[in-house]
Amino acid sequence: MILADLGKEQLNILVQNYGEKSFRAGQIYNNINNGKSISQMTDLSESFRQKLLQDYADCACEIYKEFHSKDGSIKYLFKLSDGNIIEGVLMKYKYGYTQCVSTQVGCRMGCEFCASTIGGLVRNLTSGEILSQIAVVNRALGGDIKKRLVTNVVLMGSGEPFDNYDNVVDFLKKVTCSGGLNISARNISLSTCGLVDKIYDFCNEGIALNLTISLHSPFDEQRKKIMPIAKKYKISQILSACEQYFKVTKRRYIFEYSLIKGQNDSDKDLQELYRLLKGKPCHVNLIRLNEVKEKTLKSVNDKNAYDFCKKLNDLGISSTVRRIIGSDIQGACGQLRASVLKGEDDT
Ligand code: SAH
Repeated sequence: MILADLGKEQLNILVQNYGEKSFRAGQIYNNINNGKSISQMTDLSESFRQKLLQDYADCACEIYKEFHSKDGSIKYLFKLSDGNIIEGVLMKYKYGYTQCVSTQVGCRMGCEFCASTIGGLVRNLTSGEILSQIAVVNRALGGDIKKRLVTNVVLMGSGEPFDNYDNVVDFLKKVTCSGGLNISARNISLSTCGLVDKIYDFCNEGIALNLTISLHSPFDEQRKKIMPIAKKYKISQILSACEQYFKVTKRRYIFEYSLIKGQNDSDKDLQELYRLLKGKPCHVNLIRLNEVKEKTLKSVNDKNAYDFCKKLNDLGISSTVRRIIGSDIQGACGQLRASVLKGEDDT
């Protein structure tokens, strides 16, 4: 069992059950958010720690390896208590650090260009395992809940967040909690390949974050070729769900669009994007495809990406090209884990 899965109230019950004083619950809560393993919770008595260790894993997730990029970003491999490996990236910006977290071990969405999907879904992460990725990195940077160095979070690592809906919502409630890491929802981005039913459910959670949709093509038929989920939901259904999210949160939504040579980079694609998105409270984030060696799809070059972006902006569709992060450390989703699983990470 994972101690970090427990919320404040469950921790109150836990300490009672172990016959400990009630203030111990607050200590454990702070320790979890400070990224400490049970063994490191030295403000608890040795005997209490031993009892906890009999029932709970020492840590929900620990930093297993880290890879420092020339551009200042760090790619982390985390080891979970059952030995599974997940990955995350930390990016340094002027305002602080943005951390990209995983929500599943592997993924079952099967997108053609994505490395996370190689090997399919292994399992969902629990809310505590998602939270711990941030807590241990914040601690490794020298931070804690009072001095929070990870200021922004993106749910764009391995996995489809809305395919692990309950745990992800539970995580979001935990990470935004004022007594905990207290990361504001407006500093959190959640990226989904477009599970429409879940977007509607999410509208009712009262969490106003940056909803990000992986669009990658304005045509349903083309989208089906690169994203199997497109067989279930049409782009028009996704747009209606986004409108609903905007209605309840007043937050603009974002489309991710990975430019793939010859697949979604033509003037026809531009015109259709314009037709679909004109006047909508949205932004298009253009990504230069990170070529995955197990996959055949190719990226456009920088010039084509910036031209595409300019044309979209000229048409009145707000758009930017995402900066390339950690290309020397296999920054794209699932790439590093995939090579570790194959024993290629001896760097
Ligand atoms: N499952 C979520 C989170 C995925 S990762 C989703 O589908 O949105 C975040 C973004 O990176 C997604 O838009 C995803 O489609 C994109 N992506 C995945 N692999 C990529 C690659 N090799 N190159 C460029 N973008 C990629």
